[in-house]
Amino acid sequence: MSLYYVNKNAQDSGEHEVHKESCEYLPTEDNLLFLGDFPTCAEALREARKHYPNVDGCYYCCFPCNKKDRNLKKYPLR
Ligand SMILES: [Zn+2]
Repeated sequence: MSLYYVNKNAQDSGEHEVHKESCEYLPTEDNLLFLGDFPTCAEALREARKHYPNVDGCYYCCFPCNKKDRNLKKYPLR
């Protein structure tokens, strides 16, 4: 299980990104809405959709749930 957060501020493209607590790209605390403790990012995204209709998993910490960036090759894979 991991603790998940969603970014209160949308990306330029309109999505609110979901992050794990351990992500190094976690936004600042006043930008974070706590979602809860979930076994998978898919369940965290489902919870995030109760708050924001347009959500996406972070490319780095929620890669299996990332849709927006994974085909863009805009960041190096780690
Ligand atoms: Zn992240």
